[in-house]
Amino acid sequence: MSEPRNLDQSNGYWGRILHVDLSSGEIHHEELPDAFYERFLGGIGLAAKILWDRIPVGADPMGPDNMLGFVPGLLTDTGSLFTGRFMVAGKSPSTGGWADANCGGYFSPFLKRCRIDGLFVRGSSEAPVYLLLDEQGAEIRDASELWGLDTTSTEAKLKELHGKRCQVACIGPAGENKSFMAGICNDDGRIAARGGLGGVMGAKGLKAVVATGRARIGVADKPRVKQISKDFKDAISVDSPMNRLLGDRLLGATGKLTRILPGMTRQPSDLWRLLLARFGTPALTAMSAESGDSPIKNWSGSVVDFPLARSQRIGAEAVCKHEIEKYGCFSCPLRCGGIVSYNKGDRPIERMHKPEYETLCAFGALLLNDDLGSLFVLNDLCNQAGIDTISTGATVAFAIECFEEGLLTTADTDGLVLHWGASAAIITLVERIIAREGIGDVLADGVKKASERIGKGSDRFAVHSGGMEAPMHDAKFDPGYLATYTCEPGPGRHTISAFTYLELQVLEKQFSRAPKLPPIAFKRSKNKPQGKGEMLAVDSFYKMIVDATGACFFGTQVGGPLPMVEWMNAATGWTLSADQYLQVGERIHQLRHAFNVREGINPARDCRPHPRLYGDPPLASGPFRNTTLDADGFIREYYRAMHWDPETGRTEKAHLAEVELPEVAQALYED
Ligand code: SF4
Repeated sequence: MSEPRNLDQSNGYWGRILHVDLSSGEIHHEELPDAFYERFLGGIGLAAKILWDRIPVGADPMGPDNMLGFVPGLLTDTGSLFTGRFMVAGKSPSTGGWADANCGGYFSPFLKRCRIDGLFVRGSSEAPVYLLLDEQGAEIRDASELWGLDTTSTEAKLKELHGKRCQVACIGPAGENKSFMAGICNDDGRIAARGGLGGVMGAKGLKAVVATGRARIGVADKPRVKQISKDFKDAISVDSPMNRLLGDRLLGATGKLTRILPGMTRQPSDLWRLLLARFGTPALTAMSAESGDSPIKNWSGSVVDFPLARSQRIGAEAVCKHEIEKYGCFSCPLRCGGIVSYNKGDRPIERMHKPEYETLCAFGALLLNDDLGSLFVLNDLCNQAGIDTISTGATVAFAIECFEEGLLTTADTDGLVLHWGASAAIITLVERIIAREGIGDVLADGVKKASERIGKGSDRFAVHSGGMEAPMHDAKFDPGYLATYTCEPGPGRHTISAFTYLELQVLEKQFSRAPKLPPIAFKRSKNKPQGKGEMLAVDSFYKMIVDATGACFFGTQVGGPLPMVEWMNAATGWTLSADQYLQVGERIHQLRHAFNVREGINPARDCRPHPRLYGDPPLASGPFRNTTLDADGFIREYYRAMHWDPETGRTEKAHLAEVELPEVAQALYED
């Protein structure tokens, strides 16, 4: 193993990454020059560049040539706030293109304390293995006794072996079974969920990564980092008289108001901060069902099918009644997480993470299921199996609709009767998906694969973009999602760009290119695509900075601009302007897009969302009855803002020069 450089003078980054080849057993560090970090920062940017350079075009996502990157953020462990997330990245089995997913908790800083800015794994092992990382490097260890364990048991066993202070990222049975919906878990069931990267890890025979590092990264100006953190923390107090009023009734009424009024004022980040601190994301459950944000009945229903009386049963107050502890991720002052205990019914749960809104909606409104106990069981099942709750809920919705329409019968389901809201059958179906048993095997790779296996025109119920199941936010509520669901290199994701985020993030205070938003946004104007591409593109670039620094998306939405720019300059000693960082964000975004183009993916053609996502045919009831969005218009505007060629998807050559990606220009235009 080569010795790292400048380890005692590190300024936010170590300048080296670790490579492990599971086929050959080779392990080595690679040093990266300072210029690399100024070009790509860390986190998602570092992963994008390394994977662009190293994954061969056409590599089988489940084969040894695919690589998995585990990458903490540039700001992780520097003393900045909200910056404890790590990214996992690789080629997705669901989409055949780029995938990244991220997770909070405590794994990220411990990975960075191994004196690396990222771990990259290629090859595959015939026997199950895990990686034990420390400041010196890594060892490949036998994992045969761990194979078959759920994520919590895996973590407990590894902590027994390597000490309570180590941190673990691992797969559960879903990843071992190479499900395209499997994710990678840390902190007892938190999950980097989307894109099937847990299945990739399973295909590599890699059960877990154990980080035992103790080395703390240095920063250029520690007092300045501390001061910025203190100022931001002071600015986001959650001590407010408003707290007494918060509850599902108010949330439901707010959602209803949003539904009825022709326009709304800018989203109040102060209220969102209080809601996150008090309830976490379950705060959205009743509000989003009422406003039309939540998809209902596999995107074919409306609030008429799932009214407030039902959404309240699985809403913030109902969930938080069972909360026994609150917690936050590493370096988080807001602490939106919680542990719940549920002792009712025949499947009591002693401890588990509070379900997130996405989970409550995917197994709730999407399935017309208001049985809270079943939602707790499903949340726990998925966390222990290491499977994405969004994709799994969407796949169950697809199966129910196929059953209701006669495309699946009890002969296909081994006697399981599937209906909307049939919570016991939903639990059984999810267990079979995790175990790949019978119908579960048909469904285990998500709705696109399942509809190909079932045939009979079932693709009309398979709601996805480019192979990724749609998340729990209706583009008819926020049309900004439509361009993102299509054009984001990991399509069908809700955490990149949208009008809602632009309103909360106040980007115009930081970036000269950011849109100046009107004080009141009228729905009719939001639905018009003209001029919206640039707004959404800027928001996408901003998200790349967030994911490159290891920041939490919520941190950007809870009270003025998250001072990432100030923290980065103080930590690294650079003097880059906010606009220069935004250009880095664009570089990262364009590079991820180029990864897909090189694989033959043109998003407008290959990731076009399922028609239900833009209201074709329009819903018969609810706030979006008779609403069909101009999908082509939104996609066209986004392409224009990104300088993408509609025919090929390629970024214009001249623009690649502007964002300083000569390697992409060479690959897409000359090779
Ligand atoms: S706001 Fe929530 S998800 Fe974000 S860092 Fe804090 S605890 Fe973690």
